[in-house]
Amino acid sequence: MYKAKAYSAASATAPLASTTIPRRETTEHDVQIEILFCGICHSDLHSVRDEWHSIMPTVYPIVPGHEIVGRVTRVGSAVTKFKTGDLVGVGCLVDSDHTCPNCKDGLEQLCPNQTLTFNSPDKHNTAPVTYGGYSESIVVDEHFVLRVPTNLDLAGVAPLLCAGITTYSPMRRWGNLTGKKVGVVGLGGLGHMGVKFARAFGAQVVVFTTSPGKKEDAHRLGADEVIISSNADEMRSHAGTFDFILDTIAADHDINAYINLLGRDGKITLVGAPEKPLAVSAFSLLVGRRSLSGSIIGGIAETQEMLDYCGKHNITADVEIIPIQKVDEAYERLLKSDVKYRFSIDMASLKSE
Ligand code: NAP
Ligand code: ZN
Repeated sequence: MYKAKAYSAASATAPLASTTIPRRETTEHDVQIEILFCGICHSDLHSVRDEWHSIMPTVYPIVPGHEIVGRVTRVGSAVTKFKTGDLVGVGCLVDSDHTCPNCKDGLEQLCPNQTLTFNSPDKHNTAPVTYGGYSESIVVDEHFVLRVPTNLDLAGVAPLLCAGITTYSPMRRWGNLTGKKVGVVGLGGLGHMGVKFARAFGAQVVVFTTSPGKKEDAHRLGADEVIISSNADEMRSHAGTFDFILDTIAADHDINAYINLLGRDGKITLVGAPEKPLAVSAFSLLVGRRSLSGSIIGGIAETQEMLDYCGKHNITADVEIIPIQKVDEAYERLLKSDVKYRFSIDMASLKSE
């Protein structure tokens, strides 16, 4: 075991603060990574503030962060995929059982015995729970480590590890989106990646936002049309026309307003994870045989596929790079939908702590 610098929260109301955490020594299948950038996902905030208490209560202290990019500093004796110096990424998962039907199908994100990057029981007993990427280093089984394309800006790559795969996966699963009418609801970290992918996949992209100030950016990111969701007339004009809608909203909202925009057999997929249940009108779904589904990150192979796709098509997140000392401020801005469009923590800032 060794000590690593990190930022943690001691309770749901405490600010994040500098600390040191234990990390395990590199075992034979492990890769030790010096973390260069870590994105701030809204899930970090939900977890730090224990907003998902009924589903996965937060164990304190919590070290969040699951959008990690860094450089390999050490590899275990049995590691085959990586060597010292490689640029790599780690997303939301650091372990799974490898034996369940989901793991066998490459869907580690659905494994009932998965270990999340933070706030999961630590199978190695290094600490009570796993500690995430707001830290100078991390040690991860090579199966859960991704190769990062070397042509991309690293600060903008970090968010691909969660926001990227979470939006890429359900769009790929929908099928060929070329020429299809796709809605992206909420232009935050996930939403802006959704727009970029929908555009890259050849869809007709419509963004729904509560923030009029994001309209120009939405077009720049790839939207053909931008709807301010509070404008009932504009919403009505799109009723019954969408093939697919991706809902990324982090807070309570009227999902029926979006279900009603779907055409026949249209599908809306939730990736946003609000604290409270959403009320769904049966008739919104019955009329038009529409369906509502959910999606959670993606498997390891698909995450690699997404990163390779981003390398080939030059896709990264639009980031505001911040020092870790500004993380609490960043959380407050996240709550006001005021981020363009992902915070990426420059982990060099941790050296001065
Ligand atoms: P984010 O950057 O805060 O973006 C969320 C966006 O939702 C905001 O920018 C805002 O967009 C919109 N929004 C916020 N409050 C709203 C409200 N009250 N009504 C309507 N729209 C609202 O968050 P994120 O990191 O993209 O995460 C979004 C959600 O996805 C979170 O709940 C997160 O936990 C979840 N998530 C799920 C997965 C998964 O695997 N399923 C993975 C990562 C994150 P506008 O300003 O454009 O309206
Ligand atoms: Zn995330």
